[in-house]
Amino acid sequence: MLAAYISHPDCAKHDMGDHHPECPDRVRVVHDHLLAKGLLDCMEMLDAPLATQEQLARAHRTSYLDEFAEIAQQVAPGTRRQIDPDTSINEFSYQAALRAAGAVVLASDLVASGRNQVAFCNIRPPGHHAERSNAGGFCFFNNVVVGIRHVLANYPIERIALIDFDVHHGNGSEDILFNDEQILMCSTFEKNLYPFCGDVPMGRNMINVALAPRSGGDAFRAAIKDFWLPALTRFQPQMIFISAGFDAHREDDLSTLQLVEADYLWATRQINQVAAKSAQGRIVSVLEGGYALPALARSVAAHVASLIGE
Ligand SMILES: [Zn+2]
Repeated sequence: MLAAYISHPDCAKHDMGDHHPECPDRVRVVHDHLLAKGLLDCMEMLDAPLATQEQLARAHRTSYLDEFAEIAQQVAPGTRRQIDPDTSINEFSYQAALRAAGAVVLASDLVASGRNQVAFCNIRPPGHHAERSNAGGFCFFNNVVVGIRHVLANYPIERIALIDFDVHHGNGSEDILFNDEQILMCSTFEKNLYPFCGDVPMGRNMINVALAPRSGGDAFRAAIKDFWLPALTRFQPQMIFISAGFDAHREDDLSTLQLVEADYLWATRQINQVAAKSAQGRIVSVLEGGYALPALARSVAAHVASLIGE
């Protein structure tokens, strides 16, 4: 049973301008490095479909979806429209956002149906800052939540864990999923960083661990061992989704946590072990942040290698 790798050329057409860290090259360097490492030889490569409005509406208010679609349609070729101080759209962004969410829907189908045990979505724009009714933080649709809700609506799966190790707190996922008893969300993030929340979880189903700046891999691993793993063992997830952001890497200018590839490898191994125990190994991993391109490529390779058992 090959692992699935899902991406789409449209994801590189969304462009927020020169010098923006969330740049089109992110998906290209990840793809190239996985190819160079031989990891794509071990994976089934698939193109992302477009997410449907019905699929998106499981995570977002229809008023937000309608408004975003309307704004996106008004963007003239060669121009950009600012959505928040850090986030803008060009003429291709809407299509890219539909592909990113669609990739996770396809990954969810492949893994929930048992056709593939694990899937990795190399996509942008990322999603975990997108709230039920708000874009922001480089995100428009909450890709991972769209996938989770798709599984709950279509498969006999009742408990899903969402693991988020991006250096920024997944406030969008928390906004949509808090107090949803079918979900356990486990998050680590750097304290006092965008979106400046998460220290106090919004719901009973949230395990939020705020890590002190410059605390390093030991603190990250301790958070997983002391907080995530006991909660995951109690919850017994039947499927696991990962908001896989690699911007806590020590080469990444957006944070100071100082993680390295070995930390992502180790974390992925822990997640694999949880998945093996209660979830028949079923994992869907979705790219979120990661802005130092060489470090992003190496970190994704370490994560994917561990995910597929290489
Ligand atoms: Zn991030």
